[in-house]
Amino acid sequence: MALVGGGGNPQPGEISLAHNGVLFLDELPEFKRSALEVMRQPLEERRVTISRAKFTVDYPSSFMLVASMNPCPCGYYNHPEKECICPPGMVQKYLSKISGPLLDRIDLHVEVTPVNFSELSSDRAAEKSELIRDRVIKARDVQVERFGNRPDLHSNAQMSPQMVRDLCKIDAAGQTLLKRAMEKLGLSARAYDRILKVSRTIADLAGSEEIKLEHLAEAIHFRSLDREGWAG
Ligand SMILES: [Zn+2]
Repeated sequence: MALVGGGGNPQPGEISLAHNGVLFLDELPEFKRSALEVMRQPLEERRVTISRAKFTVDYPSSFMLVASMNPCPCGYYNHPEKECICPPGMVQKYLSKISGPLLDRIDLHVEVTPVNFSELSSDRAAEKSELIRDRVIKARDVQVERFGNRPDLHSNAQMSPQMVRDLCKIDAAGQTLLKRAMEKLGLSARAYDRILKVSRTIADLAGSEEIKLEHLAEAIHFRSLDREGWAG
């Protein structure tokens, strides 16, 4: 299998070739569901085990998964101007090619709607990339300091469940918000931890020691594909 690796004489797959880097999967629903499901273990454990009759091999696979997909087969679901021509149930079926447990392991779901010409040509001042870069570098530095004595840890995403409890504390209002979101979006315990880690990173980007309500709300907002209402 090309993604996770394999063969009679097991070779590393794309996920190991992307170790310590980014793996970009374009048109995610075009991949076989079975091929995507085997990424679940490496996404959790940052290594992949390939078993053969006489031996097993472990390949490292600590990669950042970035994937893209259309909103539906025709491409116009939720489009501001054009109409989706997919038959009823098709949008839901398309999204269901990505399993819940795999979606669980994807921290940021971002819907990108088309930008029309007047928006493109407007001179509204956007934040400069250099400034964003500075902010990212600072947030990374905070994390290096946080995990300084742990050579195997470099970023918030790699925290163990126990570390999440210790380092991603939220106040009572935050707990209420998160509990409501969990119920409303039907989130798993894994998604719960992942939301806290993302909140920690958003707080780091904002230069805040505490995870504030707004950081938590933003992290919850990034779970849009968990929402049952997506393709209702
Ligand atoms: Zn469509």
